[in-house]
Amino acid sequence: MIYNIQVPIIERKAINNEIVEVGFDLLNNEFAFKAGQYIKLELNLLYDDPKGNVREFNIISSPTSRKLSLAFKLSDSGFKRTLCKITKGTLVSIRGPFGNFILPTYDAEIKMVAHGIGITPCLSIIRYASEMRLGYKITLFYFNDGYELPYINELRMLEKINKRFKVDTSYSLKDADAFGLWYVSGARKNVRELLNILYKKGVRDSQFVVEEFTGY
Ligand SMILES: Cc1cc2nc3c(=O)[nH]c(=O)nc-3n(C[C@H](O)[C@H](O)[C@H](O)COP(=O)(O)OP(=O)(O)OC[C@H]3O[C@@H](n4cnc5c(N)ncnc54)[C@H](O)[C@@H]3O)c2cc1C
Repeated sequence: MIYNIQVPIIERKAINNEIVEVGFDLLNNEFAFKAGQYIKLELNLLYDDPKGNVREFNIISSPTSRKLSLAFKLSDSGFKRTLCKITKGTLVSIRGPFGNFILPTYDAEIKMVAHGIGITPCLSIIRYASEMRLGYKITLFYFNDGYELPYINELRMLEKINKRFKVDTSYSLKDADAFGLWYVSGARKNVRELLNILYKKGVRDSQFVVEEFTGY
């Protein structure tokens, strides 16, 4: 089911120099989604934006939370400047959920590869799987061109709590074998590079679950 809801912004915080997190209160709205899905966020723009007033964002919060959170990379676009400026309580429109970057219905070994902001859909899945003590074995290969890794402290903490979850921050993917399902997310250019590395390791099309962020 696709919902159309209006919800207030209740939180905004910097995760690092380039990434900001925003949270919305779902109030009494019904909004069922699966960990790893995305929404379309519509704003009343305070600044002009030739690309309009709607952008897609993956949800980073767990489906069990009544706060729906997103994280985005800062830019000078009118849309993001508006998102950084609107005051707490301002209503925004959210349409969704969309996307197939979700856990499989069968037990499978899961390998996630995230580059920078590509962590967003993975974060929702890892939070949910850890909280619900799901049986999936998940390894996250995570890197960011030498920059600080967003949410790495939380991920390290989840690694301690959830013995079936591991984080590997080596870009070479040298310890990766070709088995299991491969979840790859992030800006298009980064996703294409990662898929090429994985194809060379013998991963096949049917093993990939991909979320490509257009717009970067
Ligand atoms: C399925 C899906 C999921 C996604 N999930 C996420 C997510 O979780 N997090 C996330 O951050 N993004 C996500 N995206 C991408 C997101 O929707 C935006 O396209 C992206 O964040 C770029 O938006 P923007 O407003 O910064 O840049 P755009 O307006 O699209 O512009 C592109 C670039 O031009 C530059 N630019 C634009 N306007 C100006 C201006 N006036 N002056 C100077 N420079 C300018 C900006 O620096 C920007 O880098 C997702 C996309 C898809 C399709």
